[in-house]
Amino acid sequence: MTASSFDIVIIGTGAGGGTIARALAGTSARILVLERGDFVPQEPENWSPDEVWRKLRYQTKERWLDERGRAFSPYTHYNVGGNTKFWGSVLYRLRREDFQAVEHSDGVSPAWPIDYDTLAPYYDRAERLYQVRGAVGDDPTEPPRGPYPYDAVPHAAGMAAIVSKLRGQGLHPSPLPLGLLRLGEPDGCVLCNTCNSFPCRIHAKSEADVCGIRPALRRPNVTLWTRACATRLLTDPSGRRVVAVEVERDGGTTRVDAPLFVVSCGAINSAALLLRSAGPTHPHGLANSSGLAGRRYMAHLATMMQGFHPFRPNADVFQKTVAINDFYLRGPDSPYPLGQIQSQGRTHGVMAQTVVPWIPLWAYEAWVRRGVDWLVMSEDLPSADNRVTVDAQGRIRLHYRPNNLTAHRELVRETKRILTRLGFWLVVKHSHGSRNTTHQCGTLVFGTDPRTSVLDPFCRTHDVPNLFVVDASFFPSSAAVNPGLTIIAQALRVADHIIEGYGLARTEVTTESVVTVPAGTRT
Ligand SMILES: Cc1cc2nc3c(=O)[nH]c(=O)nc-3n(C[C@H](O)[C@H](O)[C@H](O)COP(=O)(O)OP(=O)(O)OC[C@H]3O[C@@H](n4cnc5c(N)ncnc54)[C@H](O)[C@@H]3O)c2cc1C
Ligand code: SF4
Repeated sequence: MTASSFDIVIIGTGAGGGTIARALAGTSARILVLERGDFVPQEPENWSPDEVWRKLRYQTKERWLDERGRAFSPYTHYNVGGNTKFWGSVLYRLRREDFQAVEHSDGVSPAWPIDYDTLAPYYDRAERLYQVRGAVGDDPTEPPRGPYPYDAVPHAAGMAAIVSKLRGQGLHPSPLPLGLLRLGEPDGCVLCNTCNSFPCRIHAKSEADVCGIRPALRRPNVTLWTRACATRLLTDPSGRRVVAVEVERDGGTTRVDAPLFVVSCGAINSAALLLRSAGPTHPHGLANSSGLAGRRYMAHLATMMQGFHPFRPNADVFQKTVAINDFYLRGPDSPYPLGQIQSQGRTHGVMAQTVVPWIPLWAYEAWVRRGVDWLVMSEDLPSADNRVTVDAQGRIRLHYRPNNLTAHRELVRETKRILTRLGFWLVVKHSHGSRNTTHQCGTLVFGTDPRTSVLDPFCRTHDVPNLFVVDASFFPSSAAVNPGLTIIAQALRVADHIIEGYGLARTEVTTESVVTVPAGTRT
């Protein structure tokens, strides 16, 4: 086995890993970033629905097991930038209420160990780093905040007409906050119809490869190893300190030593890595004295809906610009939160064909040309039985039974009513159910009590002081907005904590790296 040593090892390059790599790059620390995948090539196939949806060109070939032990292909991506490379770039702050305990129809969504005000300055920074576009004032659930760094993306003509009809229904549609780069500039975002679930061929999407890893690699102290899969964290005999990570790379095994490790493999893979790192002093997994590593897995309840009208072709190319948060905190007929409705990127025929493959593509194409797409999303609640485990061969097994379904079904019904009132003749819906891992979170919950949490409020494991986990794992609740910006904001917060705690010298100060709390200017 070969060996190397660095000051900090970051494992994973997604929203968490890519961002913290960017933030720590401006220090004197020698940083190694490990990524099991490679760079996604810039190629015509990036924007091909057939390549992306039918041939699954960029999805991992790895297979996971479900709760009954049946193998399935997880909808996840191993590459530089992780899943952010394929995201819709909807970059939301959690609502202020999401940080508090909230009663839902099927149980309680627990409080976070930090409040909105603690994260707000890091949300500001995250929005600058990922160049988020939005507008304040229309969203009834918007937490206190200043203006967005960039103006909201204008609605396309069809969506603009829908927005005004939604207002006519007494609703409060608001612009979706979106991370799109250089909009309106010659090399910038062209508002195409292959954004959500596709990599951006022209690198105009705000994602962790473009906004995190590539800028970090411009610093001389940062090294990236691609096709380098961390298989196990090794500890000293006490089990209280990680001394090295074992890495599979180029067909061999390498050991990398460091005084500090940041695991950022995504909520499922980070839990799996800690569980696979069991040893004599920690037989149930590393940093798992609470027994919670892998538990409380959440992923949102998500239903895709489409309003269809046979004589109304949808000419909008980019329609993902609208949110309806009127039912985020309570439903029209219930005192409990229901969740969020978002307009969604255009469905392509081959995407629809993955649901019922025997219907011919031309029929689907004719159908989707007349459809307007929506995503209906509700919070699922943390349950100890919803969990990630690894089997004797180290394979990931996902146990997940959706909960809080009452709220989600009510939101789906309400969305159907709204779309029907908009004049659509037919409303169809589809859900990937328990196989939907896109918004995975919560497997290594953060908190103040080591008996009821795995990480402390700065995402350091309670049991192993030189081990941090910086990705979607720390979420105590899933809220009902997209998780990415919260992962990014917390990564920036943890980076500051590491820089101060370890006395790292800052070698770079950028506008993005400065936390500014505009005193008195928050509304
Ligand atoms: C199609 C799609 C659309 C989405 N849209 C949105 C959206 O609009 N807004 C939003 O906020 N969120 C969205 N999400 C969710 C968002 O992408 C995730 O919440 C986010 O990427 C999670 O960040 P992460 O750092 O936890 O993990 P990831 O981004 O998944 O990154 C984990 C990284 O770790 C690497 N890795 C894993 N295991 C190892 C190992 N053992 N060794 C080395 N490397 C390893 C992986 O290859 C990957 O690069 C979407 C997701 C998908 C798939
Ligand atoms: S050009 Fe814009 S809309 Fe198209 S994939 Fe890139 S970021 Fe998304």
